[in-house]
Amino acid sequence: MSDDFISVYGPVTSWRYGKSLGIDLIGPVSTCSFNCAYCQLGEIQVRTAQRQVFVPTEKVLEDLQAFAPWDVDVITFSGNGEPTLALNLEEAIVAVEQLTRKSIVVLTNATLLGDLEVRQALSKADRVAAKFDAVFPADLQRIDRPVFGINWQSIWAGLQELRQDYTGILEIQTMLLSQWSEEQQAEYIRLMNLLRPDAIQLNTPTRPKPVTPHLETRGNHSEAASRPYEVRVLKQVPFEVLEKIAARIQAETHIPVRFTPTRSHVSR
Ligand code: SF4
Repeated sequence: MSDDFISVYGPVTSWRYGKSLGIDLIGPVSTCSFNCAYCQLGEIQVRTAQRQVFVPTEKVLEDLQAFAPWDVDVITFSGNGEPTLALNLEEAIVAVEQLTRKSIVVLTNATLLGDLEVRQALSKADRVAAKFDAVFPADLQRIDRPVFGINWQSIWAGLQELRQDYTGILEIQTMLLSQWSEEQQAEYIRLMNLLRPDAIQLNTPTRPKPVTPHLETRGNHSEAASRPYEVRVLKQVPFEVLEKIAARIQAETHIPVRFTPTRSHVSR
Protein backbone atom coordinates (compact mmCIF):
# COMPACT_ATOMS: atom_id res chain seq x y z
CA MET A 1 0.00 0.00 0.00
CA SER A 2 1.33 3.45 -0.85
CA ASP A 3 2.54 5.41 2.19
CA ASP A 4 0.29 8.38 1.46
CA PHE A 5 -2.95 6.35 1.39
CA ILE A 6 -5.45 7.62 3.98
CA SER A 7 -8.26 5.25 4.91
CA VAL A 8 -10.61 7.98 6.16
CA TYR A 9 -12.15 10.54 3.81
CA GLY A 10 -14.67 13.33 3.85
CA PRO A 11 -16.77 14.35 5.53
CA VAL A 12 -19.11 14.20 2.55
CA THR A 13 -22.69 15.36 2.64
CA SER A 14 -24.97 12.60 1.56
CA TRP A 15 -28.62 13.14 0.76
CA ARG A 16 -29.26 9.82 2.43
CA TYR A 17 -27.34 10.06 5.69
CA GLY A 18 -26.39 13.70 6.25
CA LYS A 19 -22.78 14.52 7.14
CA SER A 20 -20.81 11.34 6.82
CA LEU A 21 -17.19 10.42 7.35
CA GLY A 22 -16.08 7.63 5.04
CA ILE A 23 -13.94 4.63 5.97
CA ASP A 24 -12.14 2.82 3.20
CA LEU A 25 -11.02 -0.71 4.10
CA ILE A 26 -10.11 -1.47 0.49
CA GLY A 27 -7.09 0.75 -0.16
CA PRO A 28 -5.67 2.59 -3.14
CA VAL A 29 -6.51 -0.06 -5.76
CA SER A 30 -10.25 -0.28 -6.47
CA THR A 31 -11.43 -3.81 -5.70
CA CYS A 32 -14.92 -5.21 -6.03
CA SER A 33 -16.93 -8.32 -6.85
CA PHE A 34 -18.99 -6.19 -9.25
CA ASN A 35 -17.90 -3.85 -12.00
CA CYS A 36 -21.09 -1.83 -12.27
CA ALA A 37 -21.74 -0.02 -15.52
CA TYR A 38 -22.35 3.17 -13.53
CA CYS A 39 -19.61 2.85 -10.87
CA GLN A 40 -18.35 6.23 -9.72
CA LEU A 41 -14.90 4.68 -9.18
CA GLY A 42 -14.57 4.02 -12.92
CA GLU A 43 -13.70 0.54 -14.20
CA ILE A 44 -12.83 -1.60 -11.16
CA GLN A 45 -9.11 -2.44 -11.14
CA VAL A 46 -9.23 -5.76 -9.25
CA ARG A 47 -12.37 -7.85 -9.68
CA THR A 48 -12.63 -10.56 -7.05
CA ALA A 49 -14.91 -12.17 -4.49
CA GLN A 50 -11.94 -13.29 -2.37
CA ARG A 51 -11.92 -11.70 1.09
CA GLN A 52 -8.65 -10.46 2.58
CA VAL A 53 -7.26 -7.74 4.85
CA PHE A 54 -6.42 -4.77 2.65
CA VAL A 55 -6.12 -2.00 5.25
CA PRO A 56 -5.29 -3.00 8.85
CA THR A 57 -7.72 -1.78 11.52
CA GLU A 58 -4.85 -0.02 13.37
CA LYS A 59 -4.25 2.10 10.27
CA VAL A 60 -7.93 3.15 10.23
CA LEU A 61 -7.85 4.10 13.93
CA GLU A 62 -4.64 6.05 13.37
CA ASP A 63 -6.10 7.90 10.37
CA LEU A 64 -9.29 8.67 12.30
CA GLN A 65 -7.37 10.66 14.91
CA ALA A 66 -6.86 13.50 12.43
CA PHE A 67 -10.65 13.85 12.11
CA ALA A 68 -11.46 14.03 15.85
CA PRO A 69 -13.86 15.02 17.36
CA TRP A 70 -15.83 13.49 14.45
CA ASP A 71 -18.51 16.14 14.09
CA VAL A 72 -20.61 14.05 11.69
CA ASP A 73 -23.99 12.30 11.64
CA VAL A 74 -22.70 8.88 10.67
CA ILE A 75 -19.57 6.97 9.78
CA THR A 76 -19.94 5.07 6.53
CA PHE A 77 -17.92 2.03 5.46
CA SER A 78 -17.81 2.29 1.69
CA GLY A 79 -14.66 3.49 -0.07
CA ASN A 80 -12.67 2.25 -3.01
CA GLY A 81 -14.68 -0.93 -3.63
CA GLU A 82 -16.79 -3.45 -1.76
CA PRO A 83 -16.28 -3.20 2.04
CA THR A 84 -17.43 -6.77 2.80
CA LEU A 85 -14.35 -8.01 0.92
CA ALA A 86 -12.33 -6.75 3.90
CA LEU A 87 -11.75 -9.65 6.31
CA ASN A 88 -11.35 -7.18 9.18
CA LEU A 89 -14.73 -5.52 8.59
CA GLU A 90 -16.22 -6.69 11.89
CA GLU A 91 -13.13 -5.74 13.89
CA ALA A 92 -12.99 -2.33 12.21
CA ILE A 93 -16.70 -1.56 12.75
CA VAL A 94 -16.44 -2.41 16.45
CA ALA A 95 -13.22 -0.42 16.91
CA VAL A 96 -14.50 2.65 15.03
CA GLU A 97 -17.78 2.63 16.95
CA GLN A 98 -15.94 2.36 20.28
CA LEU A 99 -13.63 5.22 19.37
CA THR A 100 -16.15 7.64 17.85
CA ARG A 101 -19.50 6.60 19.39
CA LYS A 102 -21.12 7.39 16.05
CA SER A 103 -23.78 5.52 14.17
CA ILE A 104 -22.23 3.10 11.65
CA VAL A 105 -23.51 2.57 8.11
CA VAL A 106 -22.17 -0.05 5.68
CA LEU A 107 -22.85 0.18 1.95
CA THR A 108 -22.61 -3.24 0.36
CA ASN A 109 -23.22 -4.71 -3.05
CA ALA A 110 -24.82 -7.77 -1.35
CA THR A 111 -22.72 -10.30 -3.24
CA LEU A 112 -21.16 -11.89 -0.11
CA LEU A 113 -24.18 -12.01 2.17
CA GLY A 114 -24.37 -15.79 1.89
CA ASP A 115 -21.18 -15.87 4.02
CA LEU A 116 -22.05 -16.13 7.72
CA GLU A 117 -18.92 -14.18 8.71
CA VAL A 118 -19.97 -11.30 6.50
CA ARG A 119 -23.44 -11.24 8.06
CA GLN A 120 -21.84 -11.35 11.52
CA ALA A 121 -19.71 -8.34 10.64
CA LEU A 122 -22.72 -6.45 9.33
CA SER A 123 -24.66 -7.23 12.51
CA LYS A 124 -22.36 -4.72 14.26
CA ALA A 125 -23.54 -1.86 12.02
CA ASP A 126 -26.58 0.29 12.82
CA ARG A 127 -27.63 0.41 9.19
CA VAL A 128 -26.85 -1.65 6.11
CA ALA A 129 -27.62 -0.33 2.66
CA ALA A 130 -27.59 -3.27 0.26
CA LYS A 131 -27.53 -2.95 -3.50
CA PHE A 132 -30.23 -4.68 -5.52
CA ASP A 133 -30.22 -3.41 -9.11
CA ALA A 134 -31.15 -6.46 -11.15
CA VAL A 135 -34.84 -7.28 -11.03
CA PHE A 136 -34.31 -10.28 -13.30
CA PRO A 137 -31.18 -12.47 -13.50
CA ALA A 138 -30.46 -11.25 -17.05
CA ASP A 139 -30.21 -7.65 -15.78
CA LEU A 140 -27.28 -8.54 -13.51
CA GLN A 141 -24.75 -9.00 -16.32
CA ARG A 142 -25.84 -5.80 -18.02
CA ILE A 143 -25.87 -3.53 -14.95
CA ASP A 144 -23.58 -4.94 -12.26
CA ARG A 145 -21.26 -7.28 -14.19
CA PRO A 146 -20.31 -9.67 -11.32
CA VAL A 147 -17.20 -11.80 -11.10
CA PHE A 148 -17.45 -15.47 -11.97
CA GLY A 149 -19.32 -17.49 -9.32
CA ILE A 150 -21.73 -14.74 -8.29
CA ASN A 151 -25.19 -14.94 -9.73
CA TRP A 152 -28.62 -13.46 -9.15
CA GLN A 153 -29.82 -16.44 -7.12
CA SER A 154 -26.87 -16.31 -4.70
CA ILE A 155 -27.39 -12.57 -4.16
CA TRP A 156 -31.11 -12.97 -3.55
CA ALA A 157 -30.54 -15.88 -1.13
CA GLY A 158 -27.92 -13.82 0.75
CA LEU A 159 -30.28 -10.87 1.05
CA GLN A 160 -32.97 -13.09 2.50
CA GLU A 161 -30.50 -14.55 5.01
CA LEU A 162 -29.42 -11.07 6.05
CA ARG A 163 -33.04 -10.02 6.46
CA GLN A 164 -33.64 -12.93 8.81
CA ASP A 165 -30.57 -12.33 11.02
CA TYR A 166 -30.12 -8.61 10.99
CA THR A 167 -31.72 -6.43 13.67
CA GLY A 168 -30.51 -3.02 12.44
CA ILE A 169 -32.02 -0.94 9.64
CA LEU A 170 -31.85 -2.68 6.27
CA GLU A 171 -32.20 -0.48 3.23
CA ILE A 172 -32.27 -1.62 -0.36
CA GLN A 173 -30.56 0.66 -2.87
CA THR A 174 -31.57 0.22 -6.47
CA MET A 175 -30.02 2.00 -9.42
CA LEU A 176 -32.19 2.50 -12.49
CA LEU A 177 -30.23 3.01 -15.70
CA SER A 178 -33.36 3.11 -17.84
CA GLN A 179 -37.09 3.25 -17.35
CA TRP A 180 -38.50 -0.03 -16.03
CA SER A 181 -41.06 -2.05 -17.95
CA GLU A 182 -44.37 -2.98 -16.35
CA GLU A 183 -42.96 -6.48 -15.88
CA GLN A 184 -39.87 -5.18 -14.05
CA GLN A 185 -41.93 -2.92 -11.80
CA ALA A 186 -44.33 -5.72 -10.85
CA GLU A 187 -41.50 -8.17 -10.18
CA TYR A 188 -39.56 -5.65 -8.08
CA ILE A 189 -42.66 -5.04 -5.96
CA ARG A 190 -43.18 -8.76 -5.55
CA LEU A 191 -39.56 -9.25 -4.45
CA MET A 192 -39.62 -6.33 -2.00
CA ASN A 193 -42.83 -7.66 -0.50
CA LEU A 194 -41.02 -10.94 0.10
CA LEU A 195 -37.85 -9.33 1.49
CA ARG A 196 -39.50 -6.54 3.54
CA PRO A 197 -36.53 -4.15 3.90
CA ASP A 198 -37.05 -1.15 6.23
CA ALA A 199 -36.57 1.32 3.40
CA ILE A 200 -35.92 1.49 -0.33
CA GLN A 201 -33.82 4.02 -2.19
CA LEU A 202 -34.21 4.38 -5.93
CA ASN A 203 -31.30 6.04 -7.65
CA THR A 204 -30.34 7.09 -11.12
CA PRO A 205 -26.74 7.98 -11.98
CA THR A 206 -26.22 11.55 -10.78
CA ARG A 207 -22.46 11.16 -10.64
CA PRO A 208 -20.36 10.86 -13.76
CA LYS A 209 -18.16 7.83 -14.31
CA PRO A 210 -14.42 8.58 -14.37
CA VAL A 211 -12.63 7.32 -17.46
CA THR A 212 -9.61 6.29 -15.34
CA PRO A 213 -9.49 5.43 -11.60
CA HIS A 214 -9.06 8.29 -9.09
CA LEU A 215 -9.06 7.75 -5.36
CA GLU A 216 -10.92 11.03 -4.79
CA THR A 217 -14.01 9.46 -6.36
CA ARG A 218 -14.54 7.62 -3.05
CA GLY A 219 -16.30 10.78 -1.92
CA ASN A 220 -18.76 13.08 -3.57
CA HIS A 221 -17.47 14.16 -6.97
CA SER A 222 -20.60 15.61 -8.46
CA GLU A 223 -19.23 19.18 -8.55
CA ALA A 224 -17.43 19.92 -11.80
CA ALA A 225 -14.84 22.08 -10.02
CA SER A 226 -13.72 19.15 -7.91
CA ARG A 227 -13.10 16.86 -10.89
CA PRO A 228 -9.70 17.44 -12.45
CA TYR A 229 -10.05 14.25 -14.49
CA GLU A 230 -12.00 13.02 -17.47
CA VAL A 231 -15.48 11.63 -16.85
CA ARG A 232 -18.35 10.16 -18.82
CA VAL A 233 -21.79 11.51 -17.93
CA LEU A 234 -24.35 8.69 -17.75
CA LYS A 235 -27.93 8.75 -18.92
CA GLN A 236 -30.41 9.44 -16.13
CA VAL A 237 -33.98 8.36 -15.66
CA PRO A 238 -36.12 11.54 -15.54
CA PHE A 239 -37.23 12.68 -12.11
CA GLU A 240 -40.94 12.34 -12.96
CA VAL A 241 -40.44 8.71 -13.99
CA LEU A 242 -38.58 7.86 -10.78
CA GLU A 243 -41.22 9.68 -8.78
CA LYS A 244 -43.99 7.63 -10.36
CA ILE A 245 -42.20 4.30 -9.87
CA ALA A 246 -41.32 5.20 -6.28
CA ALA A 247 -44.93 6.12 -5.51
CA ARG A 248 -46.16 2.84 -6.95
CA ILE A 249 -43.65 0.75 -5.00
CA GLN A 250 -44.52 2.52 -1.79
CA ALA A 251 -48.25 2.16 -2.38
CA GLU A 252 -47.98 -1.55 -3.12
CA THR A 253 -45.42 -2.49 -0.43
CA HIS A 254 -45.98 0.13 2.31
CA ILE A 255 -42.20 0.36 2.55
CA PRO A 256 -40.85 3.96 2.65
CA VAL A 257 -39.28 4.79 -0.72
CA ARG A 258 -36.81 7.59 -1.31
CA PHE A 259 -35.30 8.51 -4.63
CA THR A 260 -32.53 10.61 -6.13
CA PRO A 261 -31.76 13.35 -5.47
CA THR A 262 -33.55 14.54 -2.32
CA ARG A 263 -37.27 14.47 -2.69
CA SER A 264 -39.09 11.79 -0.81
CA HIS A 265 -42.46 10.20 -0.45
CA VAL A 266 -41.70 9.75 3.18
CA SER A 267 -42.76 12.55 5.48
CA ARG A 268 -40.65 11.44 8.43
S1 SF4 B 1 -20.63 -2.44 -6.25
FE1 SF4 B 1 -20.13 -0.32 -5.84
S2 SF4 B 1 -17.87 -0.22 -5.90
FE2 SF4 B 1 -18.50 -2.17 -6.82
S3 SF4 B 1 -18.55 -1.72 -9.00
FE3 SF4 B 1 -20.63 -1.45 -8.20
S4 SF4 B 1 -20.79 0.72 -7.69
FE4 SF4 B 1 -18.60 0.23 -7.94
